[in-house]
Amino acid sequence: MLFEEFGFDNRILKSMSHLGFDEATEIQSRAIPEAMAGRDLLASSKTGSGKTLAYLLPALHRVYKKKALSKRDPRVVVLVPTRELAKQVFGQLRLLLAGSRFTSILIQGGENFNDQHKSLQKDPHFIVATPGRLVDHLKQRHVFLEGLELLILDEADRMLDLGFAEAMRAINAAASHRQRQTLFFSATLDNTQVSEIANELLREPSRVAVGQGFDEHTDIAQHVLLCDHLDHKEALLKHLLLGQTIKQAIIFTATKSDTVRLSESISQWGLTTQALNGNLSQSARNKTMESFAKGQFTVLVSTDVASRGLDIANVSHVFNFDLPKQAEEFVHRTGRTGRAGFKGEAYSLVGPKDWVNFKAIEVFLQKTFTTEVIEGLEPKFKGLLQPKPVKQVIQKTKAKAPKKASKNLTKKPSAQPRFHDNQQDGFEAFKLPPKRFETPVSSDDED
Ligand code: ADP
Ligand code: MG
Repeated sequence: MLFEEFGFDNRILKSMSHLGFDEATEIQSRAIPEAMAGRDLLASSKTGSGKTLAYLLPALHRVYKKKALSKRDPRVVVLVPTRELAKQVFGQLRLLLAGSRFTSILIQGGENFNDQHKSLQKDPHFIVATPGRLVDHLKQRHVFLEGLELLILDEADRMLDLGFAEAMRAINAAASHRQRQTLFFSATLDNTQVSEIANELLREPSRVAVGQGFDEHTDIAQHVLLCDHLDHKEALLKHLLLGQTIKQAIIFTATKSDTVRLSESISQWGLTTQALNGNLSQSARNKTMESFAKGQFTVLVSTDVASRGLDIANVSHVFNFDLPKQAEEFVHRTGRTGRAGFKGEAYSLVGPKDWVNFKAIEVFLQKTFTTEVIEGLEPKFKGLLQPKPVKQVIQKTKAKAPKKASKNLTKKPSAQPRFHDNQQDGFEAFKLPPKRFETPVSSDDED
């Protein structure tokens, strides 16, 4: 569908021609008419398929064409899970609003609360926010949402993962009049948590799903390499980073401290790199992202704060140095490459500690990965086998053992997986790799 076919306000068409886009992507073609018709919407499509414009353009159209419900309250609120994404969406919105009389502000944690209060007093039409900080302002009565016309939740599932359910409910309750329209967008919306909150926040929503979260993203080549321990992972990473042409890469690690440590190693290998995690000050986070987006360094080493929504055209490679605990995050992390029709490469390094997560990802994606091996860096690790089924053990011993002993054996087998060492023809007790990294305790928190 062409953008001029939606019946958009001329100002929108002008902005689109500035962007150089004539034709809508599939999610845009299907979601925009639903949103323009005023319906609530649950919309999903793969990463990099243009969901941001699919919600921003109908929001703009509404504000341009319809009379405001309230003179002072914001008309559109966009909620996103991370500060980095908030900044990006805000940037896109500002470009679209340039030259119009409509105003927008960014409300996120880590920035000065009083400055945000002052900006709110100017009665902006649009707010892009992370949920926690917006709720802080609601509580302080710095902002009222009785006149809110459109509530948009981008990456709604991630906001739930980060514990924003209550904040989302509070925002919903502050804007619970009948005329409000609500839109949910993500690449992965199929889970019970999302359905529950969608039931609370959305009214008879239309469902637009272009493909499924687990559909193979044909523009992203997935590579999986098994590894034995952390030194092996680093050797593989070094080989992969130095052995191919990398425009820009994002490496995901499980912990904040690993981003720093790994970034130091990468810099010793002669590549320009910076670490990003939730421990950094907001200004450091902003600086790092701005500099990465401008191409001023090659490798960003990050926790999941960079896994959602970030759109940086030059990212040719994504590496999972550790696999994410939540299977959906695999889709989002690897989706930082292969965007808007470009090709990308994604590498996942799977050690014994990643195995359970790796299997969960295969189940989620409904696919089995083939693993690749690099000459000279072959792994001994071939995957973990499940413990033997209990039944067999019981039957074997039942005949011989007296009643008392067999009682013990009916206990569940240890959940500890066993390491299948290919060198031997059998099992070997699973050995933990040398402990050098902090064990992941929680994901990188946001507000
Ligand atoms: P998603 O939210 O689905 O991951 P984004 O909204 O971040 O994707 O868009 C990914 C990229 O595609 C952005 O760089 C955006 O400018 C570009 N894009 C969006 N819509 C179009 C379009 N209709 N034609 C070409 N490129 C587009
Ligand atoms: Mg997005």
